[in-house]
Amino acid sequence: MSYNTILVTGGAGFIGSAMAHRLIESGKKVVIIDNLHTGKKENIPEEAEFIEGDISKKETYDQLSQYSIDSVFHLAAQSGGVSSFDDPDYDKESHVDGTYNLLQWCQSSSVDRLLYASSVAVYGEPEATPVDEQAKLSPKTYYGAGKQGAEAYVNLFDNMGMETTIFRLFNVYGPNQSLDNRKQGMVSIYLSFVMRSDKLEVKGPLDRVRDFIYINDVIDAWMKAHDEPDTFGETFNLATGTPTEVGELINIMLKKYGEPEFPVEVVEGTPGDQFAVYGDISKIRDTLDWEPSVSVDEGLTRMIDYELENMIDQNQ
Ligand code: NAD
Repeated sequence: MSYNTILVTGGAGFIGSAMAHRLIESGKKVVIIDNLHTGKKENIPEEAEFIEGDISKKETYDQLSQYSIDSVFHLAAQSGGVSSFDDPDYDKESHVDGTYNLLQWCQSSSVDRLLYASSVAVYGEPEATPVDEQAKLSPKTYYGAGKQGAEAYVNLFDNMGMETTIFRLFNVYGPNQSLDNRKQGMVSIYLSFVMRSDKLEVKGPLDRVRDFIYINDVIDAWMKAHDEPDTFGETFNLATGTPTEVGELINIMLKKYGEPEFPVEVVEGTPGDQFAVYGDISKIRDTLDWEPSVSVDEGLTRMIDYELENMIDQNQ
């Protein structure tokens, strides 16, 4: 099956826009739905068709009737664990109602293929690390519960005949991640402090453990899985399998930025924060023959270089 026209939900966001760019580079036609909740118009590739709309509202899908969509990359959602406590209703609407309505539209439009961006947040605090896909799901945030609910609907529609793939993304980072939103994205939050403040505020202990995955590795996995039947009906951790302590990440970042002595202040953690979580990636490695290729060291260099260049461009 070749999928030529792809609907990317959340295509004005960090990951969705990078996906859209890659799809276009590979010769696909892209249609984006985004309500610009956290996304930005300037992220949308010029070549993409853009529908400004909310995926949790049925009327949004009326605007798709003029396109012949072959498959869906589903990334639209309220995207932060901390912000899910600010507005749990919106979080639920975007995850559960949004995913449900999208799946219903897929079914009624004979669009069978859908890839979904779930999250490591579904595991909560795993009993053992590295955590594999069979681990108990026990979210600690509205966001994690929303992802779990959305996964359940994706699996239901898969059972009813769709071909779906769920990726549980770990901590994704890279160029163009928003530095304006200090409630989402550990790497982007810390980098925004380093580039725009006089001290780096860290909410929660420095010995917390995360699995930081570079944006290009995430996109590579989705592109490979898109027309790979072995991924249909499956759920995968999308991580590197390498644990990194938060303090270690900060040390690497400050060194790369050329400010190894930058002041760091540790303050109280955020609600529902996980302590230690990194992924077992055997399943995706074996099924998709995919490997993460960018280390935290290299990924941070690329991200910082990009942000510095952007800052220079903006000041010119
Ligand atoms: P992002 O906030 O940059 O992108 C999310 C996009 O969805 C934004 O453009 C936003 O405007 C849009 N959106 C939100 N609610 C919507 C709605 N109701 N209707 C239409 N559009 C809506 O975040 P991101 O980092 O690019 O994340 C993309 C997806 O990946 C999200 O589903 C997120 O939960 C998931 N994810 C991200 C990470 C990460 O580390 N960045 C980790 C795990 C999962």
